[in-house]
Amino acid sequence: MIRHEPVLPPEDIFPIHDWRVVESRLNLKKIAQTETIFSTANGYFGMRGAFEEGGPAGQHGTFINGFYESWPIPYGEGAFGFATHGQTIVNVPDGKIIRLYIDDEPFDLESAFIQRYERVLDMQNGTLDREVLWETPAGRQILVQSRRLVSFHEKHVAAISYRVTVINAQAPLVLSSEVVDHPAPQPQEEDPRLGRQVGEVLMPQASDYADQRLLFSFVTRRSGMGLSLGVDHTLDTTCTFTVNTICASGTGQVVFNVDAEPGQPIHLTKYITYHTSRSGKTDELKARAGRTLDRVLTQGFDQLVQDQRAYLDDFWQSSDIQGGRTHPRAQQCIRWNLFQLLQAAGRADYAGVPAKGLTGQAYDGHYFWDMDMYMLPFFIYTAPRVAKNLLRFRYSILDKARARAREVNQKGALFPWRTINGEEASAYYAAGTAQYHINAAIAHGIVKYVQISGDQTFMEECGAEMLIETARLWRDLGFFSKRRDGRFCIHGVTGPDEYTTVVNNNTYTNLMARENLRQAALAVEQLQSSNPRAYRLVAERTSLDPGEVDDWKRAAELMYVPFDERLGIHPQDDTFLEHDVWDFEHTPPEKYPLLLYFHPLVIYRHQVIKQADVVLAMFLHGHEFSPEQKRRNFDYYDPLTTGDSSLSACIQSIVAAEIGHEDVARRYFTFALLMDLADVGGNLKDGTHVASMGGTWMAVVYGLAGLRDYQGRISFNPTRIAKDLRFKLTVRGCRLMVDIHEDAITYRLEQGEDFTFWHREEEIVLKNGRSQRRDL
Ligand code: BGC
Repeated sequence: MIRHEPVLPPEDIFPIHDWRVVESRLNLKKIAQTETIFSTANGYFGMRGAFEEGGPAGQHGTFINGFYESWPIPYGEGAFGFATHGQTIVNVPDGKIIRLYIDDEPFDLESAFIQRYERVLDMQNGTLDREVLWETPAGRQILVQSRRLVSFHEKHVAAISYRVTVINAQAPLVLSSEVVDHPAPQPQEEDPRLGRQVGEVLMPQASDYADQRLLFSFVTRRSGMGLSLGVDHTLDTTCTFTVNTICASGTGQVVFNVDAEPGQPIHLTKYITYHTSRSGKTDELKARAGRTLDRVLTQGFDQLVQDQRAYLDDFWQSSDIQGGRTHPRAQQCIRWNLFQLLQAAGRADYAGVPAKGLTGQAYDGHYFWDMDMYMLPFFIYTAPRVAKNLLRFRYSILDKARARAREVNQKGALFPWRTINGEEASAYYAAGTAQYHINAAIAHGIVKYVQISGDQTFMEECGAEMLIETARLWRDLGFFSKRRDGRFCIHGVTGPDEYTTVVNNNTYTNLMARENLRQAALAVEQLQSSNPRAYRLVAERTSLDPGEVDDWKRAAELMYVPFDERLGIHPQDDTFLEHDVWDFEHTPPEKYPLLLYFHPLVIYRHQVIKQADVVLAMFLHGHEFSPEQKRRNFDYYDPLTTGDSSLSACIQSIVAAEIGHEDVARRYFTFALLMDLADVGGNLKDGTHVASMGGTWMAVVYGLAGLRDYQGRISFNPTRIAKDLRFKLTVRGCRLMVDIHEDAITYRLEQGEDFTFWHREEEIVLKNGRSQRRDL
């Protein structure tokens, strides 16, 4: 259901621009929200958009992907197999602070008289730019121009160019460049989605300085991880200045005292580097930070800017979506979503993608199924290397998933519902560990990646092993039920809808498990015939018994999929339809999201849905539902779906588009598209919703353009809402451009020899450089 329409900030504050997100007036009331919007990150580390000067700030956050503190989960009443340790991403010391003083008065945007202000996230250049004209009480005019970037090319590096010009006077000017460990903010509200405050985490190891350089190292108190942080500077000016470097344990300052002359720019460049390791051996990390600084200092800021631009040109070349003008700001918002996906995952390299990217501490910096189900498709089709890295990360935690399966008395592997280090960190099993469907989401991602990229080597080296172990879990978890004529049933699980937990035969889960079982069997059989050596290796690694494969096939064949003949719909699970329907009429808007205002048991005993569940199954397994079933299911579940999770709107949009509910599809699409820029969930201040961004990409490509890729067969069935839309997909080394304009769609093969796909039911074979146009 759509309860309200998203509202963007007015154009005079947030002007429309295709490639930039612009804030033309400082809005102190929205400071925490804009910090999220103006975050800069590269997938390895990220900084919230808080100002260099230190304030005003919602939360200064600098997060390194995978760098966490662990803590024992306090249970009032524990039970066997509960997760024992939580993990929380650490807000590391802030290297970006540059305080500015004129006449020994601090420049503070909150109290300063600002004559001109503009902050711009430039998505082509990958920079955060700001220009402020400040007039001091003494009538001095100070122009402050800054540019910040977190480099994609140099994954350990951020840099800031900070240029100050006193326009109309001489003045003593101080630039104090600092490394600051901000105190953790006191949470203002009870929200279980927020990250845990883990107290004093970092134990300083070494604090060194030389000239204008500061170098620190730390070890986390409990998880024992190592961190090094270094900053270095250059100051360019014709004005005279002195430098004073002060260093204490874990913090420090490099202070430039300048005799500012009228009209003479004072240009400080600050280079910042972070390095982390799982071990607490910090000497080597500190040496690495030093080497990184040596290198980037020699290359200079302009080189970083150029490399950033080149990286982004490459990204947009394969990932951009043009048009999609369902809304006047659609272009800007679409690009911001895609840019955030890149910022969340681009250089994640050996890690996963936190639900909030690197823009906040909410959800503790954990990786959920969000990355496999919602973000991965975008990367598979536009940047397969990133997709492969994310799947490799999953492979790297397979042994822990095996161990977790043992802990919960199952065979095979059970991937953690939420984690950083590979261990289950969910303390609430009903909406955590019970979401076994994460296993199937990972399997789905593997299969899609291999089908679309054609990367068989990945299947041989990692994919098949993960499919085998996840399939084993399903086979072991479910059983052939006598009461259901020998059908394979799966009990005691939670599907995607976290408002209905620990149920029997969740339709979504059963369908996903069936796919997982089938794909595991297929992968083993294909390996056996195409690469016996790889087969032997994987069979050895998994102690595979040849009989297992038939057993998986049988379970898949006999999988029970609930269907209610009377209503002609697929019940979400065995008992969902027996519950009373939630009293939506008497639930005022301020009582959403329900999870913040109602006891879980109240929610669980009603027909009320947090996020797409059966509807998601219909998107992923559309070929298993008749058009009539799809309509009936959607019409039944949509009014019950609160969309309290940001993972919902995009999927509702895709299915609504498919079944011809065009208006609903368009409205859901706008909802997903504006999820963060219009702060739909009211929690933008805590970070972005990266799954929704991946979902928005899906809502364009699968929703508006009607892409379907069952078994790797690419087909399009464009909807009428797609009026003006261009995007590219990379499939098995070919790059296809899809252009929907007026009442026609044009397909063009930009890269690759030839490419076969379907336009509706018509097979098309495109040769390199050729186009085919079809009327819609
Ligand atoms: C959703 C989950 C999701 C998690 C992290 C929850 O609100 O229900 O499906 O994985 O947020 O985004």
